[in-house]
This record gives sequence, structure tokens and C-alpha cells, in this order.
Amino acid sequence: MIKLKADYVLTMNEKDEILLNAEILFSNKIIDIGYNLPGESIYLGKNSVIMPALINTHTHLEFSKNKTSLNYGDFITWLDSVINSREELFISCKGECYKNAIEEMKKSGVCAFGEISSTGNDLKYLKYSPLKVVYFNEIIGTNPAIVDAMYQDFLNRVNESKQYQNEKFKIGVSIHSPYSVHPILMDKVIELAKNENLPIQAHFMESKAERSWLDKGEGEFKLFFEKHFKNAKPLIKPIEFLEKFKNTNTTFIHCVYANEKELEKISQLNASIAHCPVSNRLLNVGKLDLERVKNQSIPYSVATDGMSSNYSLNLFKEIRAALLMHTDLHPKYLAKDLLKAVTKNAAKQLHLNNGSLEKDKDADLITFKLPGKVKEKELIPMHIILHTTEVEELYINGEKI
Ligand SMILES: [Zn+2]
Repeated sequence: MIKLKADYVLTMNEKDEILLNAEILFSNKIIDIGYNLPGESIYLGKNSVIMPALINTHTHLEFSKNKTSLNYGDFITWLDSVINSREELFISCKGECYKNAIEEMKKSGVCAFGEISSTGNDLKYLKYSPLKVVYFNEIIGTNPAIVDAMYQDFLNRVNESKQYQNEKFKIGVSIHSPYSVHPILMDKVIELAKNENLPIQAHFMESKAERSWLDKGEGEFKLFFEKHFKNAKPLIKPIEFLEKFKNTNTTFIHCVYANEKELEKISQLNASIAHCPVSNRLLNVGKLDLERVKNQSIPYSVATDGMSSNYSLNLFKEIRAALLMHTDLHPKYLAKDLLKAVTKNAAKQLHLNNGSLEKDKDADLITFKLPGKVKEKELIPMHIILHTTEVEELYINGEKI
């Protein structure tokens, strides 16, 4: 049993209480939080903070080798560069590459991440990860002639990854996007997720090109599909795509170009959104309208996406970017929402029993120090985001990592 004491303790409980000079008592689960708890406590020092460890809901670690090889600044140009460099990047990312990616997340206080696996090659590097992994086998492909073979390959990957399920390794499924997966495959994968109660992730409305393609079969994607796949017809309307996810736990990634009706549908489905602000910026697709997302009461997480569209997997850097990018929102309240996004909202999306410091939750927490005293309690979240890049300690299931 460990008892820690800090100047600022962010519970992220229902009321988002911040306790001053408070204690937390835990073993592998949180036993209690508050004041005058039994036993000897370790005081973490002046301006110290304890909060739930962060959760990066959406990454593609297969791309971790990328630093400068992809073409940023325009979505379709980027996608072309991904298709050209994909194999090379995948092959060159081996043990050390995954280790470094995990290390970078760990330093930023990440205890768990959602990994989108398109090949299954990353499994051997992630099955014994020191951080918690939710491993989303992804399906992609539109060719109706090979639907069965593609599904079989997907199933093989699911079954392979299933063998490693434990306290720290869980599985989910991913449908790449409405423009890249045949509807027959969508149905099969959703059916599987429903039967086995697995979380789902799907990219949705990331770019203007996707919007024009799915709405009218026009725009930059038309040329792209003709060039790469000789298949120039969208296979599903965006709203029909969303409707398929009824009675599932689905997170839609990006949603930058989702319209009012689609956001309303996402809300009705009790689904959620993962917001990847740096990726959106680098591919120059614009930014998610967080105001509209909030008005529809859609919970959102913030994630780094992969190194295919980011310069870092540090989640504190990501939420700092979000804080500075969304100039239409008040930074004080946005900061509060962003901390929720990377803790309790993220936990819900990944089916994890963490993300808040409450009795019986997994003892997944981080400790670090602010550079000075914060006079107004309401400003604590903002100062945490402004002044934190790396944490001092990360505990997962009560163990120092
Ligand atoms: Zn992604």
C-alpha cells in the first residue's frame, strides 16, 4: 500500500474536484482519497500535483519511424506520400522503434494507449508493453471480389491478438473509414464487436476531400481513387455509415468536416470523438468545431494520432497545442475540458477502469510539480497544460513504471 500527498490533487471525479494538500491511498486499486487517511504518507513537495495518468486513445505506432519522409501541408498529397512510403516505414520500425515510441508516451504520463494496427506486425512489440494497450485490429479494403479473404485476414489478426489479453492488453476493432472499407466488411466487423463487446474506432470526415467524395463522388478523392484503385464510386452515404454503429461503443476519429446532422447522429448513438489537433494542423484540414461538439453533448478525447501525422507522441504537447489552437474558446474552461479529454473521457472510449482518482479505480496516476503556486484554483488545469511536458512518476496498477 502506498500513500502519497500533494499540494494539488485532481480527482477528475463526477464534480471534477481539485483537493488541496490532499492524500491518496492505493495498492493496485485506489483505496481512498482525501484527508487524514491511515498510515505514513510520502509528501511530494512544494507545488506538487497528483492526477490520473493520461490516456492516448488513438495512435498508429507502425508509423513511428517517420520523422521527415511524409509530405505535410495538404491532405491528398500527404495520403499519396503515405501510400508510397508505407511499406518502407513499416519494415524499418522494429523493437527499438516501438520502444522509443512507448518511452516518449510514458515520459508524458501516458498509462494507456489505443493502437490502430493495420498489419498485425506490431503485435510482437506491443503484447508485453509496460503501458496498457488497447489493440485495435483495423480493416481496410473496398474490392468486393476479395471481401471474404480480407475478412479472414482480419479475423486471423483478431484471434492472434486475443491470446495476449490480460490486465494490460485488451483488444478492439477498427473500421478505417467510410471511404476505404466495403459496407459488407463494415457489417461483419460491427457484428463481431457487438457479439464480443469490443470498442470500435473509425476515422470519419477528416478532410474536405472526404466530404465532397462521400456527398457527391467528386473532388480530390475522385482523382486519387482513379489513380490508385480504379474504383471511382463512393460506397456509402456518411449518415448511413454512422447508423451502422447503433448499439456499439464507437469513437469517431477527427470529424473535422462532420456536419450538424452527423454530429447529432453521433450524439444519439452515444458515441464519442477523438480529436487529433496537431495531425489536423499538419495535414491542413482545419480544426474540429469543439463548440458544436460540446453543444451536442458529445464526449471527446484528445490523441496524438501516429507519427505519420505528428512530430511527437507526447500527450501534454498535444493538449497544449489544442489549448493554443482553439482561439474561439475561453482557455480557462477549455483547459479543464482538455484534461477530462485525456483522462476520464479517454478511459470510457477504451473500456478502461481508470481516468479518475476514485475508490476502486485502477491506481493509474502521475505526479509532477508546477513551477510555482497557483492562486486561483480554477486556473490549475491551464497551468498544468502550460507547464508540463514530462512527469516525475507514473504508476500503473499501483506500480511505479
Ligand atoms: Zn488515425
